[in-house]
Amino acid sequence: MDDYDYEPDEAQLAELLRRWDKPDPIAALERGGTAVHEAAHAVAAAICGVQWTSARLLDRPVMLGYRAWVRIPVIDSDADKAFIYWVGCWAEARWLGIPLEEAQRTSGGIDNRVVGAYWTAGGREGPDRWVAAMEPAWSEVLSFARKLANHGVVFAGGSACLVEHDLAALI
Ligand SMILES: [Zn+2]
Repeated sequence: MDDYDYEPDEAQLAELLRRWDKPDPIAALERGGTAVHEAAHAVAAAICGVQWTSARLLDRPVMLGYRAWVRIPVIDSDADKAFIYWVGCWAEARWLGIPLEEAQRTSGGIDNRVVGAYWTAGGREGPDRWVAAMEPAWSEVLSFARKLANHGVVFAGGSACLVEHDLAALI
């Protein structure tokens, strides 16, 4: 049994909670959804044979309000690009159990624009095919997301990625 020297009063407790930097349950859920979102981008890239180099998940926004992203230097095919961008919100919605439109509204920013531009330009591929491609990889998405949530960063293998890894270690 633990012995406490003192019990904090209300003001001390409020201050302790304010300094408590672990995410509350809602933040944790949001963080999980974001990890799954980014994981889906990376797994979809791998399915297309497109090299991603790193995925990041931070506790606060650092770039233009973004706090998570996957770095993918080059995507040659517009269809692959639309697929890779579209799956983020799909995976987030699937994991959180919310409608796709809700995930697209809250975290679809760039993703929606890329997919919209693809369809506007006459792109034929779409959700049916993309979901069929992702479902068999769902467990892979979840294990990638778990790694990302635990470490905040996941690096791909390969020499280009190792350079990025070294740069990240310097900053
Ligand atoms: Zn995204």
